[in-house]
Amino acid sequence: MRRQIPIALVDSSPLRISSEAAAYNPRVTVLNADLHCHSVVSDGTLEPEVLAARAHANGVELWALTDHDEIGGQQRACAAALQLGMSYLTGTEISVTFAGTTVHIVGLGFDARDPALVAGLSATRGGREARAREMAAGLALVGIHGSFEGALRYVGNPELISRTHFARHLVESGVCSDTREVFHNYLVEGKPGFVPHRWAALGDAVRWVTQAHGMAVIAHPGRYKFTANEEYALFSEFKSHGGRGVEVITGSHNAADFEKYADMAIEFDLLASRGSDFHSPDESHIDLGTLPPLPAKLSPVWEALAERVHRPS
Ligand code: AMP
Ligand code: MN
Ligand code: MN
Ligand code: MN
Repeated sequence: MRRQIPIALVDSSPLRISSEAAAYNPRVTVLNADLHCHSVVSDGTLEPEVLAARAHANGVELWALTDHDEIGGQQRACAAALQLGMSYLTGTEISVTFAGTTVHIVGLGFDARDPALVAGLSATRGGREARAREMAAGLALVGIHGSFEGALRYVGNPELISRTHFARHLVESGVCSDTREVFHNYLVEGKPGFVPHRWAALGDAVRWVTQAHGMAVIAHPGRYKFTANEEYALFSEFKSHGGRGVEVITGSHNAADFEKYADMAIEFDLLASRGSDFHSPDESHIDLGTLPPLPAKLSPVWEALAERVHRPS
């Protein structure tokens, strides 16, 4: 049996303890932190305030909204979180092209007014409309007409038309029965609606976040179809640019991924993050705040970001 540690040690941790189990461990790994999700400001279906309420209802204690390539929802998300008594870290998920593949980098705890970050994200959003028109042209070649206009009806932010909006339109118009099927048949590489796109460079994305006093985190590494060598290169280059964290516990990982990326976090001396990647009650199989905790052997990103956390008064 583990000895119960004195409560004073627990109180010295940067954030509030969530469960009695934490009293056994001075490293606050059981905090219910959910540091990855999407609102209507990118490709989620809920408003930031509704997400905040859902996170809070599910027991989330530290939350971040991480819209794709966009920080337009940050003020609303932060205000809603604080009002509910939930701590908040600023967040975004930046689309990056690395080794010919799209990789996502989550930024946490940055200053959302930082001009270089704001400009970098704006530039990253810039190509989306032209890409969407090309996607629609590809779909028209296989008999699916009007998909640009159709997808636009699902878009909350005109600068952020994404594949997800096409998927929703194709489900609603009866082409497929769910969004997974749309991606599989139409929107991934080799399919008629897929258009290769050049996103931000890895080093640029990491620097935008880091120089704005935030932390860059590799999002859901288990989703990329890299060879072991390419994955090693991603982790090494990410670190050399100043990246500091990796998502270990995410809605995109299975149990084997949890173990693999816990080991890689240790191997690469990276801090570990946890986030559901929740998009929509109808589409997401993992709800806000419901994932397993980080393995206790890992150092959570939120310990290193303690000074960047917005806390309720
Ligand atoms: P985009 O940034 O336009 O390339 O869209 C990427 C988004 O599409 C991701 O953030 C996911 O929300 C969604 N997505 C990607 N692959 C799939 C898939 N296989 N099934 C459902 N959604 C997906
Ligand atoms: Mn998404
Ligand atoms: Mn992602
Ligand atoms: Mn995401």
